[in-house]
This record gives sequence, C-alpha cells and structure tokens, in this order.
Amino acid sequence: VTTTDPRPIPGTVPRDEAFTRPFWQAAAEGRLTTTRCRPCGRLQFPPRIVCVHCWGRDSVWQELGGTGVLASFTEIHAGPAVFAEELPYTIGLVDLDEGLRVAARIDARFTDLRLADPVAFAARSRNGTPLLTFVPTNRR
Ligand SMILES: [Zn+2]
Repeated sequence: VTTTDPRPIPGTVPRDEAFTRPFWQAAAEGRLTTTRCRPCGRLQFPPRIVCVHCWGRDSVWQELGGTGVLASFTEIHAGPAVFAEELPYTIGLVDLDEGLRVAARIDARFTDLRLADPVAFAARSRNGTPLLTFVPTNRR
C-alpha cells in the first residue's frame, strides 16, 4: 500500500490537530510530552482528551524524560510515498522509562540494533513537520 498522505497511521502517533498542537510544538524542540489524567493520575500515549483508563476528561500536559529501551524494531523496504527517498529505514516500538510504549522512527541501521538497546527522543523534522524519532544512546 502506498499513499501520498504524510500523516502518521492513526492510533500510533498523535495527529497534528488543535488538541495535539502542544505535543508537536514540544517535539519540534526535542521535548517529548503526553497527557496525564488528573482524576486517576495515569499517563497515556498518544495524548488523549478522554482518559483510556477511567474515561476522565480532565488531562494536563506533562513532559517525559524521552528515554527508554527498544522493545521491537523492523526495517521498512516498501513504505509510504512520502518516505520513498529514505528507504530502507528503521521503525520500532520504544518502551519509555515512564511505562509508555511509543511507535517511532529509529535513526539507526537495522543491523546495528539489538532488542533492549537504550534510546532517546530526538528532534527530527521533514519539510517543517516533526517526525517522532529515537536514536540509540550507546554502542555495545
Ligand atoms: Zn484517568
């Protein structure tokens, strides 16, 4: 499947809309944020207006440490048209220190990565649009 729609897949990465604008503004500055539900105190990712844990509608923005470990990763050889010039590239699931799991681009060669590698959030963008990206933080 190819598409010219540059937006991320729904449910994995926050869309750029009015509610998530603070998320993308922070991401452009290299800061990873999400929402914390005030009634139950739990974090969730992607940021949401309604809490997935208690259905509360009172959330606040919270900055995250931006570090975690690689829970899974794969190499993309047939991707969306918008990323065609970057093929092949690596994507993965990152388990953040706060207990959240984030799908993101991994800025490393697939063959250089191992499960549980430590990674950190990094500010990356394409044509002015932030791209959720993590980079390995040490080498074996
Ligand atoms: Zn809640």
